[in-house]
Amino acid sequence: MKFIEASKHYFDQAAKALDLGERLKRQLSTPQREIKVELTVPLDSGEIATFVGYRVQHDSSRGPMKGGIRYHPCVDEDEVTALASLMTWKTAVVDLPYGGAKGGVNCDPRQLSQNELQRLTRVLTDRMQDVIGPYRDIPAPDMGTNAQTMAWIVDQYSNYHGWSPAVITGKPVELGGSLGREAATGRGCLYALEALLADQRRSIEGITVAVQGFGNVGSWAARLMAEQGARIVAVSDVTGATYNADGLDMAALVEHVQKTRGVINFKGGEVLKAEEILTCPCEVLVPAALEEQLTEVNAKDVQAKIIVEGANGPTTPEADETFRRRGITVIPDIFANAGGVTVSYFEWVQNIQQYRWSEERVNQELRARMTQAWADLKGAAKNARDLREAAFMLAVSRVAKATLLRS
Ligand code: NAD
Repeated sequence: MKFIEASKHYFDQAAKALDLGERLKRQLSTPQREIKVELTVPLDSGEIATFVGYRVQHDSSRGPMKGGIRYHPCVDEDEVTALASLMTWKTAVVDLPYGGAKGGVNCDPRQLSQNELQRLTRVLTDRMQDVIGPYRDIPAPDMGTNAQTMAWIVDQYSNYHGWSPAVITGKPVELGGSLGREAATGRGCLYALEALLADQRRSIEGITVAVQGFGNVGSWAARLMAEQGARIVAVSDVTGATYNADGLDMAALVEHVQKTRGVINFKGGEVLKAEEILTCPCEVLVPAALEEQLTEVNAKDVQAKIIVEGANGPTTPEADETFRRRGITVIPDIFANAGGVTVSYFEWVQNIQQYRWSEERVNQELRARMTQAWADLKGAAKNARDLREAAFMLAVSRVAKATLLRS
């Protein structure tokens, strides 16, 4: 099953288990607002290019909507809609006072210069400035966008509304971004794993871990887990994979990737075929690259006993079935990678308070949120077949309750 269909499948399952009823089910599955805009942008060559941008605002019953902006050639209405609903469930699982939204522009950012990207982003903000806002919908970075993109958005939005840093998160620290935001999603993966291990009366010390993807999420997850004593035995990225049964030297690997832009040819490990990262010997697997990586084809060969979903949608529902049958625990994306949106929430809180928190406080509050959400998840898991089903039931019931109270 494709990622786009899977999020609807999990929602339908939860709605059935919670006996939501047709009216509420339709209300929660229908986006509140879908926006499609034409973006006309002068290129450096003098030509005029036209792009299509989307913003889907899925649900705001628990607070203003929250979700990233993606610049990618595959962006379309269906993808943005699926990702928007996933944000509603993710913010609800970790009990942030937010709903869910997502946006994107169908473009290839690697083919655009910085000036072209800036013009595109400012035109997008012109088109969206009346539907986003600190108490309406708060975008953030996603694939193909970064802190610089957020800086252009806050600047352009502020031309209309006065200085408004809380309109967007993932900003550079100089413009009101939060300390700790860069590492937050990987750190959240660490806290999620530690919570599960604590329940099993185990520590992370000496646990073997394989990580697919060495970008923002994967590299921070690997580094922070290694700092706590885990042995990172394998890491992959788009260039290839590297394996060392004794544990990869994280500091040396990070330096190698900074210098060469990939994990391939790392001297401290043996070469592994890229796809073997998912089935190599390890106790914990962290898919932190792309969706639909663990499928009915490879799920039977996975050796890990715990999967921490750093990426969005890395496991198909068919693979989930296999993992359930084989007794492999999957910590689902809407909880495991919620560290990023949680620290985005802290950024918004700091912007509204006009008061900066220390990095130590950010990390402490993140741990507290993740730990509480884990306790809530375990409570929900008593009535579910696995943690993903529990996470969806927890999220959907919270959103349903808020919706009913407001109607
Ligand atoms: P990123 O662009 O920083 O890193 C992606 C990594 O995946 C890169 O190392 C890339 O080389 C690697 N990769 C790409 N194709 C690959 C392949 N076929 N095999 C192995 N590796 C491959 O992206 P990111 O921000 O780290 O996001 C990764 C995933 O986590 C995405 O699914 C994203 O939606 C999700 N996510 C990110 C955040 C965040 O805060 N960054 C928050 C929640 C979820």
